[in-house]
Amino acid sequence: MIDFSKLAGLVPAVVQDERTGEVLMVGFMNEEALAITRETGFATFFSRTRNTLWTKGETSGNRLEVTRVLTDCDEDTILLAVKRLGDGNVCHTGERTCFFRDLSFGASMVKGDR
Ligand SMILES: [Zn+2]
Repeated sequence: MIDFSKLAGLVPAVVQDERTGEVLMVGFMNEEALAITRETGFATFFSRTRNTLWTKGETSGNRLEVTRVLTDCDEDTILLAVKRLGDGNVCHTGERTCFFRDLSFGASMVKGDR
């Protein structure tokens, strides 16, 4: 049983490319988003800003076909292994992954600079 109590009904969901292992994005899921994801096979999240469910790629066509749904040792985080559909770019900025900003030591931390 997933523990949704720690973040007021939500759990973080890490999305990983099933082939390369690349981390593509992190979303949040409530119980319904997880159920829909498992039923439909397409990654569906809960938007904290819009306060609603959203299926990744529903407008862009860049849907995420889920091949595995895992949870961690504490059962408070989800890991989705996915196939990238559409043009394969997961981030709304057009990048393949949301994690394209490097904040490593020595890298610039100026917003938008990369
Ligand atoms: Zn993004």
